Amino acid sequence: MIPYGRQSINQDDIDAVVEVLRSDFLTQGPMVPRFESAIVAQCGGGVEAVAANSATSALHLACMALDVGPGDVVWTSPITFVASSNSALYCGADVDFVDVDPLTWNMSVEALATKLADAEVHGRLPKVVMPVHLCGQPCDMAAIGALAHRYGFKVVEDASHAIGGSYGGAPVGNCAYSDITVFSFHPVKIVTTAEGGVATTRDPALAERLRLFRSHGLTRNPDEMEWEPDGPWYYQQVALGYNYRMTELQAALGVSQMTRLDEFIARRRQLAALYDRLLEAVPVLKPHVLPNAQSAWHLYVVRVDAARRRALFEAMRAADIGVNVHYIPVPSQPFYRRLGHDPAHYPNAQAYYAECISIPLYYGMTDQDAQAVVTALQRSL
Ligand SMILES: *Cc1c(COP(=O)(O)O)cnc(C)c1O
Repeated sequence: MIPYGRQSINQDDIDAVVEVLRSDFLTQGPMVPRFESAIVAQCGGGVEAVAANSATSALHLACMALDVGPGDVVWTSPITFVASSNSALYCGADVDFVDVDPLTWNMSVEALATKLADAEVHGRLPKVVMPVHLCGQPCDMAAIGALAHRYGFKVVEDASHAIGGSYGGAPVGNCAYSDITVFSFHPVKIVTTAEGGVATTRDPALAERLRLFRSHGLTRNPDEMEWEPDGPWYYQQVALGYNYRMTELQAALGVSQMTRLDEFIARRRQLAALYDRLLEAVPVLKPHVLPNAQSAWHLYVVRVDAARRRALFEAMRAADIGVNVHYIPVPSQPFYRRLGHDPAHYPNAQAYYAECISIPLYYGMTDQDAQAVVTALQRSL
C-alpha cells in the first residue's frame, strides 16, 4: 500500500527523543523553547512562537488570545478540517463560512469581500477571519489583510498544511498580514512532533496571552499579577486556561525534524512537479498555485468527473493506492447542520467536494511510486 501521507523518522530523530528520556525534564524543560526558536528562525524572525500539544489547541489558544467569546462570529473556509471552526465554538462564539475559490480551492477573496459588505450592513461583522492554506498553498494574504484593515477584524492563518511554504517571498508564519499563524505537527503533516502545534505572532502581548492560556491561566510574572507577590514561590491564576503544553519528547523530535524541513519541502516540490508532468495526458484538474506563492505541498489534490469519483476512489484503494478526500465540507457535518448551517450556501465547496481526490505525496515516496499512482489513476479512469 502506498499511503497518502507518511512521516519520515531517521536515527537523529530517535536519538533526540531518547536523550530527553534520559534527561531531567520530560516536560517544561529546555526543548520546547528550542523548538519554538527553530520555528521563529523558519519564519524569518520578527515573531514569537508558542508551542502547544496540537494545532487544535493552538487554534483554540489563538481564539482565546484574541478574546473571541459569546456574541462574536469567526469566519473560515468550509473546505478544512473540523478543528479550524471548532476552535471558535470552544470559545462560545458562532461560526460562519466563506465559500472557496473555484481555482485555488482556498477561501475566495471575492466571496469574503461580498460577505463583509453585507455583514457590515447587518451589523454582524466577524471578529476573526481564519483563512486555511489548503494543501499547503498560501491564501491571497495581502488581499485578506487589506480587508482586515478596512473592516477591523483579526486574522488567524490556519497554516496546518503550510510550514515551508511562502507568500510574496516571505515564509508562511511570519504574520505579515495576520495576527496569529498556526502550524500542525501531526504525523501526516510536513514536519512532525507526533502530536503538536505552534502559534506564531508579531505581537508580544498576544504571545504572552497564548502562553498564559496554554498553562492554566497561571503567571509567575509580577507585572501580570493583580497584587504584589507573597514571595518567590508565588504564582497567580489571572484567567481560565488549559493544560495545552507540548512535552519535551515532542519538542526534541520537532527540533530534529526542523533541521530537515528544507529537504522535506524540496522533495515534495519535486514530486508535485513530477505529478504535474505525468498527469498532463490524464483528464484531471491539477492544483493551482498563486504566482506570488510557493506551496509547501502537504497534499496533492486532483479534481475528477464527479460521476466517476467514487468508483475511481474504490479502484485506487483496490490497487493499494492510499487515496483520500480532503475535505468533507464542514457545514455539511451533522453537528454543524444542527447549529443551522447549510452546505448548499457554499456551491463552490460542494462542487470541489464532489470531485476532489488526494493522491499520495510524502517525503519518502519514490519517483516509481508516483509513476505507479499515475498508472493506476489512468487505468481506473
Ligand atoms: C491537521 C489540521 C488541524 C489540526 O491539527 P492537529 O495538530 O491534529 O490538532 C487543523 N486544521 C487543519 C487544516 C488541519 O489539516
